[in-house]
Amino acid sequence: MSIFLDPRLNTLKPYTPGEQPQVGKFIKLNTNESPYPPSPRVLEALEGKWETLRLYPDPDCRELIAAIAEVNGLKAEQLIAGNGSDELLAFIFQALCPKGAAFADISYGFYKVWAQLYGVSAKIVPLRGDFTICLDDYRGLEETIFIANPNAPTGIALDPRDIAALAKEKPDRLVVVDEAYVDFGAKSCIRYINELSNLLVVHTFSKSRNLAGGRVAFAAGSRELIADLNRIKFSFNPYNINRISQIAGAASVLDRQYFSDCCSKIIATREKSARELRALGFEMTESRANFLFAKHPKLKGADLYLKLRERGILVRHFGGERIEDYVRITVGSDMEMDALIDALGAILKEGT
Ligand SMILES: *Cc1c(COP(=O)(O)O)cnc(C)c1O
Repeated sequence: MSIFLDPRLNTLKPYTPGEQPQVGKFIKLNTNESPYPPSPRVLEALEGKWETLRLYPDPDCRELIAAIAEVNGLKAEQLIAGNGSDELLAFIFQALCPKGAAFADISYGFYKVWAQLYGVSAKIVPLRGDFTICLDDYRGLEETIFIANPNAPTGIALDPRDIAALAKEKPDRLVVVDEAYVDFGAKSCIRYINELSNLLVVHTFSKSRNLAGGRVAFAAGSRELIADLNRIKFSFNPYNINRISQIAGAASVLDRQYFSDCCSKIIATREKSARELRALGFEMTESRANFLFAKHPKLKGADLYLKLRERGILVRHFGGERIEDYVRITVGSDMEMDALIDALGAILKEGT
């Protein structure tokens, strides 16, 4: 720490991203990326476009927004594109939490970092004993509510009707739904955007559109909410999405077939892997995401992580109260998951 750091940031604890090893050959099941490449349409769309990097990108991301609007049945003014949903969520914490933020104790770990970064008071709402979010616990709250649906790292999904009911209950309080994993078998709240002016839905292309490296995401909400977010964006980084990513994002949204094929494959692999893990004695939450949240009665979470790592397989271990024994396993390809199951079988054998 230098002597120049603003003392308000002395105690800021940054988010710890999952490992991105640059050497060694790992089966990467630790950061919820897709095992499949971006749509072939993305590669076609990028052909001959690299020389345009000479120019600044479109600050309004018009082609990308038009594609997202078309596919989601929304108007351009109901959408803003972000450099990953992390950027949009950060804008929301910075600008749209005047009375603080409320979110679950076990959820996306970044929420509490942004709250701290922007000096937003955080009301932490514990998950129920079965790791579900109980929306009744949020009734009457004044704070901006953040709900990851499906939740991370549990994968458990809520019914969007219940989230809409929570928003309706108090129209002067904002509800933000982080739908990073919604395409893997949950239902989106986007259908309520026209009806509810206190609802913001955030989507990312990192997981279900196989573009984690492209950093593309969007938020959908009333034109007023979107104008507020643009106010922040244009006061910070008007060119927030580079040219290549805008082109890649638009092409990816328009390839609906490839998108649904990839999601179906992930869901099928998830269900198969869940059965195989149960057969090995693992316990799991009911995941509607592209990961499984699993523990074994005979193995500590930290040991599980380390023993898999020794065998060249990376999973995520968060630690912390109540989830100490769990690891989060990204759903990879069938081959990667076969390797995982084999490794776990061997680890369990040597341990007993
Ligand atoms: C991955 C993830 C994000 C961030 O994704 P980006 O890559 O920044 O778009 C946001 N919320 C949740 C719950 C996530 O899992």
